[in-house]
Amino acid sequence: HEASRSTAHVVAWTEQLQTLTAEALGLQAELRRAIEEDELVLHYQPQVDLTTGATVGVEALVRWQHPQRGLLPPAAFLDAVEQSGTIGPFTSWVLRRAVRDCAAWRERGVDWQVSVNVSMRNLVGPALAEEVAALLAQHGVPADRLTLEITETALPADQGLLASAVAALAQLGVEMSIDDFGTGFTTFAQLRSLPVCEIKIDRSFVSGALADSEDRAIITSVVALARGLGRRVLAEGVETPDVDEWLRDIGCDRGQGYRWSKPVPWTELLDEPARQG
Ligand code: C2E
Ligand code: MG
Ligand code: MG
Ligand code: MG
Repeated sequence: HEASRSTAHVVAWTEQLQTLTAEALGLQAELRRAIEEDELVLHYQPQVDLTTGATVGVEALVRWQHPQRGLLPPAAFLDAVEQSGTIGPFTSWVLRRAVRDCAAWRERGVDWQVSVNVSMRNLVGPALAEEVAALLAQHGVPADRLTLEITETALPADQGLLASAVAALAQLGVEMSIDDFGTGFTTFAQLRSLPVCEIKIDRSFVSGALADSEDRAIITSVVALARGLGRRVLAEGVETPDVDEWLRDIGCDRGQGYRWSKPVPWTELLDEPARQG
């Protein structure tokens, strides 16, 4: 009886694993198609200079226009991208499109920076700096117009590898940013030593800050820390004018969030002259 139960258990487990694998393989094939057939879409969200209210940059946020399932948010497929080994071609697509779009708005006289999210796997993988340098040259976009956002929850244990990857990109003049700061494992030692230009305070501290004195204490400290280290600080998840105002008062450099705009196709951001830098 015991044996048959455990056999049944193993069979169920194996079937589950096979389904998972089949699903992952299916998604992998679908993702390759999505990249080839241009089913991925970039939406952009303004990053605003809090002292002037001008848009100084935009963050590229990927969506998947799936033929059957509609417009999918990154949460619906990013894990699968990471696990299926397609993060290389995926990020290459995002970078190509973002740099191309940046060249297009520059042609219209709009001088926004563009921020692109990169996975730690991309960063420590082969030749990201070479790829980025070639793209910028191809489209005539200055290196300091591109920011690469690294999520700190994903900071790897291999500090040497990380440091040399960040150094190679910083050498090009590309700006580096630590995303979702406050939710991961960045140490003060890393903050001091990595040539990172910007710290992005995670939106979990920002959105409700006016109703929470602990959130405010954390944000105030991170702003002071960033200033002391000579880094730029951006608060994400700014949803209301009062949070915008408070952040400006405490000396936060930039803000991003629904207070200004949800992520949209970049051409829609041009329709609102007040938001252009
Ligand atoms: P993130 O880089 O921290 O991006 C900010 C997320 O917060 C975006 O979600 C954005 O739509 C959302 N957001 C912005 N302002 C507000 C606000 O005021 N309130 C609230 N509640 N939310 C706000 P999204 O677009 O769903 O992206 C989720 C995450 O997916 C991103 O978080 C980023 O980690 C990842 N991601 C997005 N695009 C890419 C990409 O091209 N490559 C990689 N590797 N990751 C990406
Ligand atoms: Mg980001
Ligand atoms: Mg973030
Ligand atoms: Mg976040």
